[in-house]
Amino acid sequence: MKVAKETVVTIDYTLTDNDGEVIDTSLGRDPLSYVHGVGSLVPGLEAALEGKSAGDTLTVAVAPSEGYGYHDPALIHVASRSQFAGIDDIEVGMRFRAGSDEETMIVTVVAVDGDDITLDANHPLAGVTLNFDVKVLNVRPATPAEIAHGHPHGTDGTNHRH
Ligand code: ZN
Repeated sequence: MKVAKETVVTIDYTLTDNDGEVIDTSLGRDPLSYVHGVGSLVPGLEAALEGKSAGDTLTVAVAPSEGYGYHDPALIHVASRSQFAGIDDIEVGMRFRAGSDEETMIVTVVAVDGDDITLDANHPLAGVTLNFDVKVLNVRPATPAEIAHGHPHGTDGTNHRH
């Protein structure tokens, strides 16, 4: 069957940036299974997978607008070291969870200057073109529970642990 809304799709994938550096890959671990059409993957990759079948391979370059968005300078803030009580060594590249219970985001330390800690709340892949090499391994209908939950329940849809 073909990849369409409310199918469970299993893929192997490798994600590289424009320098050819591997950002993420399923190779060497379990393939990725997801419910198609519920926004599990970045929009550009879901769109490219639409209509594909098991055995198909595809190479997709996903622009930031169809990936994790563009880098927004408004999401960079300078915080004070005193806000990081209990953390002695704050270094560039460290990530923290920030925000309320309802809306949390991951912020990355991008600069440390004395007591000024500069935090970037952009997604780490904002502004990055995502180059996916994908092989479709399996496509099957999603069960009603999988559609309701928005995630697969094992290889045959019955392994419901969430
Ligand atoms: Zn579930």
